Amino acid sequence: MNNAKNTYTVVRNINQLATPVTDGKPFLRGRHMRNIETIDNAALVVRSDAIEWIGRNSDLPDRFMDNADIIDGSGLVALPGFVDMHTHMVFGATREEEFAMRCSGATYQEIAAQGGGINNTVRTTRDADKSKLRKQTMRFLDKMIRHGSTTVEIKSGYGLTERDEVKMLDVIRMVKDDHLINIVSTFLGAHALPPEYKEHREEYVDLVCRKMIPYVAEKNLTGFCDVFCEKGFFTLDESRRILQTGIEYGLAPKIHADELSPLGGSELAVEVKAVSADHLEHISDKAIELFSKSDVIAGLLPGVSFYLGHNYAPGRKLIDAGAIVALATDFNPGSCMSYSVPLMMTMACTQMKMTPEESLTAATINAAAALKISDKLGSIEKGKLADVVFLQMPNYQYLPYHYGENHVAAVMKSGTWLEYR
Ligand SMILES: [Zn+2]
Repeated sequence: MNNAKNTYTVVRNINQLATPVTDGKPFLRGRHMRNIETIDNAALVVRSDAIEWIGRNSDLPDRFMDNADIIDGSGLVALPGFVDMHTHMVFGATREEEFAMRCSGATYQEIAAQGGGINNTVRTTRDADKSKLRKQTMRFLDKMIRHGSTTVEIKSGYGLTERDEVKMLDVIRMVKDDHLINIVSTFLGAHALPPEYKEHREEYVDLVCRKMIPYVAEKNLTGFCDVFCEKGFFTLDESRRILQTGIEYGLAPKIHADELSPLGGSELAVEVKAVSADHLEHISDKAIELFSKSDVIAGLLPGVSFYLGHNYAPGRKLIDAGAIVALATDFNPGSCMSYSVPLMMTMACTQMKMTPEESLTAATINAAAALKISDKLGSIEKGKLADVVFLQMPNYQYLPYHYGENHVAAVMKSGTWLEYR
């Protein structure tokens, strides 16, 4: 598969092309999440970085063929590139020793007492220089795109000092410049209370609000501000203050909400009009009702529940209520080391009772909406960026069905091919 020298790239004889039907909307909510258009024996025409035409192979206009690189898509399914809308991919070191301790029955408290947990990652991330972090992140991204993700969000939040948070955002900017994957960054200075502020929590919240947020906004390091609203992390009031400060500085709010307990982060998300509220394993019925009437996107992360052995978020209930649901890996060293959005789709189907159609919408257009880029990508439509994943399979429903295997045959990002197999 050569990169195009001709005006068009034509992929024809595609087994099946499947995409959410947006009708110009930024996301699909509730029952509309099942609106998947399928075209059997499809063809796809790309011009430069954008989609020019999709349709049946037999309807492919001749005008494209004279000036095109023509590729045979036999045996392949074409889907929108996956959008991994929530990761913590920049970090100092992995934590497989904690996984082993956990498997041997150690509790969270026992692991933390031996220097484990998030503070472990904060320590190794503070110790790492930019070049080491960049190299490791590039390697992770290489794997991500080979699993079909063409956009990945990455958060700061393992530095927890002004210097180290900016270092992380700098690394994210470096990989954004260097990698084919589309990267979106989020400031998460309020990921955890750093150990040195244990007795002075209000001073740390002050530092985030008075120094870090103004600095990252002024330097244009990100467009989003996130907070971990949870018992033992940041309270509702602290989270509100941090997100509202972010809004004042032009950073769109996101929130880690109701992961371990029903603290009310979901209600706060609606109050501050957050772009997304992620986790939601313990979201209240009242908040589900609020989500059904608001545009806050519910970002569900089933890989975390799988790894930790926790409850899954109520995906079915959220969709039945009319909410907007997205999916992501939450790739991070402490609770989900998986690159695979398709594996999350399987968990969404089997554990959260979503349909294959809903899981595809959640992993593409709705995930793109959670990053405010669904006008450009997240579905295969004329004029959108040509972010397309080609998988060796008979139809799109096969993807969540045949799990634990990487079916990706090739990936196209903004019209550029990543060769795979
Ligand atoms: Zn997270």
